[in-house]
Amino acid sequence: MGKMIYLDNAATTKTAPEVVEAMLPYFSELYGNPSSVYDFAGKSKEAVTNAREQIAEVLGAGRDEIYFTAGGTESDNWALKAAFEAYKSKGNHIITTKIEHHAILHTCDYLEKQRGAKITYLDVDENGIIRLEDLEKAITPETILISIMFANNEIGSIQPIKEIGMIAREHGILFHTDAVQAFCQVPVNVDECNIDMLSSSAHKINGPKGIGFLYIRKGVKNRSFIHGGAQERKRRAGTENVPGIVGYGAAAKRAHETMEERTKKEKELRDYMISRITTEIPYVRLNGDPVKRLPNNVNVSFQFIEGESLLLMLDNYGICGSSGSACTSGSLDPSHVLLTIGLPHEIAHGSLRLTLSEETTKEDIDFTVDKLKEIVQNLRNMSPLYEDFIKKMKK
Ligand SMILES: *Cc1c(COP(=O)(O)O)cnc(C)c1O
Repeated sequence: MGKMIYLDNAATTKTAPEVVEAMLPYFSELYGNPSSVYDFAGKSKEAVTNAREQIAEVLGAGRDEIYFTAGGTESDNWALKAAFEAYKSKGNHIITTKIEHHAILHTCDYLEKQRGAKITYLDVDENGIIRLEDLEKAITPETILISIMFANNEIGSIQPIKEIGMIAREHGILFHTDAVQAFCQVPVNVDECNIDMLSSSAHKINGPKGIGFLYIRKGVKNRSFIHGGAQERKRRAGTENVPGIVGYGAAAKRAHETMEERTKKEKELRDYMISRITTEIPYVRLNGDPVKRLPNNVNVSFQFIEGESLLLMLDNYGICGSSGSACTSGSLDPSHVLLTIGLPHEIAHGSLRLTLSEETTKEDIDFTVDKLKEIVQNLRNMSPLYEDFIKKMKK
């Protein structure tokens, strides 16, 4: 096998060498516990504070509004469960969408079945974007929380977050957004968008795995999620993951500084790839909004083939992609996101997500599309559905 072409950056990214470099001393020499009193431990405490500032800066937030967690999933669980607890005397209604990550959907399901919450799951249009009038209509006097993702991890669609924040604020409802895919990929400012809580995860932005944060606006009554010591201002106990936190700070700083240039280049390659695929391969459709879209996301459905077979054959050429989100791969159900945007099961099954990184080159894209053309044709040649279709066409 030759070179690997990694096009699954929505699943996870490579930890950048300078991020690893920044982390290393906090495994070896500077291993003190930030809660200890001696000078040596002060170095660890300082490093945590520094990372908190680096992250707060990206969001336009205060540093005391950033709470470190073990990743996006924990942040989503915390935001929803603790806000529900804290605000249930006001009402029990939460509004979210049908295309959220499972960290939100399964938490909502738990709150509904076990805790007495009422959940409204908003539909999205054919491009994967909510309709603001649906949101307005869903609001009741019982609504305490709106949780809508900033950008979708499968089809890349970006929601009208500013408008959603305005609606939430007008009605005095808390607004949480899962920004795991958006943070450092598109500009995110918590004040401009009236965001009260925001989830993010380091391993999606060239940081380490197992570290994330929840932004909680000052004044929001969000209860402690992990009980124990006094870390994270008593809201999230447990000795801080100092190397992870340092890595996250370094990754956020780096990704924020390079955002404009990096995403411009990614967008050009993304659009080049989409245009090659949709013009050179027949019976294919682009999923997600063509414009309101993550700079590195390509998601397409090919008729008459199985996405899983496609992935295996791409893997033979060292090309890494995804057919749905990594969490649902392994199950045979098509992605809930693709079904929600209205794809029939058989078309959703023939879907492929390719997500680029700053390291992706035009040569990588050309190689991938060339192979994709061959593979799709070969798979179709073996497909009875395709054979029937061609026969009918000829009549
Ligand atoms: C990856 C992802 C998560 C989960 O984050 P982890 O850090 O892997 O737990 C949540 N939401 C979205 C949109 C994601 O892409």
